[in-house]
Amino acid sequence: MTLPGVPESFYWMQSPCGPVLKCRPLEWVADHVFTTRELQLSSADEWRRVGDFLGVAAVVTSNQVHGRDVATSRRGLPRALVRQDADVLVSDDPDVAIAVRAADCVPLLVADSSTGAVAAVHAGWRGTAAGAAAAGVQALRRAFGAKPEHLVAAIGPSIGPCCYEVGSDLVDAFAAAGYARHVIQRWFASRPPRRDAARRGLQPQARTSLRLDVAGANRDQLMLEGVPEGKIYACGLCAAMHLDVLTSYRAEKEKAGRLAAVIRARADSRQTPPAI
Ligand SMILES: [Zn+2]
Repeated sequence: MTLPGVPESFYWMQSPCGPVLKCRPLEWVADHVFTTRELQLSSADEWRRVGDFLGVAAVVTSNQVHGRDVATSRRGLPRALVRQDADVLVSDDPDVAIAVRAADCVPLLVADSSTGAVAAVHAGWRGTAAGAAAAGVQALRRAFGAKPEHLVAAIGPSIGPCCYEVGSDLVDAFAAAGYARHVIQRWFASRPPRRDAARRGLQPQARTSLRLDVAGANRDQLMLEGVPEGKIYACGLCAAMHLDVLTSYRAEKEKAGRLAAVIRARADSRQTPPAI
């Protein structure tokens, strides 16, 4: 297995959970990890290994429903035993880690360098249209007083625009959600017409296809919420193109596993992080 190349802001490491991906600038603020397909996430024991690796007794997850609802873990408060329906988790509790799972959808981790509070966001196209990433930033502001300019974000592996052909119904869904036309155009790129389209008798509208840059859309949403562009790091990996390491629902259907994005709030909120 060859681990795919990543930008300098990311690195691979071997762990008891298999190879994992980490983001250097995010690491200055909060311990975190993006897992790979070697960790099946099908048993409590595997989640325990993730928790052990991050030094916590519990990893908080949610029922992901492709929305923008938020589940909050607070330091010193007893945790709810029932898993909530939520695609955004926020926490200032260093005794737990929070996690989202994804196969093609964007796993997004955010940490506040000032307070140490963290967010984990799961955003496929539905969650992206719903503004899950924006909901994560807003929840960090509301729950923990985070300022967007102090946030650092890492975007993990998801399906890339190279492999994510979509229909125009998705454009309509983003328009209905209120996004400006020029923003939508940025997120949906048109693929050139197939060379054999005319010969195959395809109608003009079927000759071009749309591709959604779902990671780019989430980066833009963070920026629209005030997170500085220079503090948003994307690993740039397309899950469908690295199936030996990652996993993709589009490529593998029901055989696809899940990747986890896991992050833990810093224990000492008064600590001054190094400049990044
Ligand atoms: Zn791809």
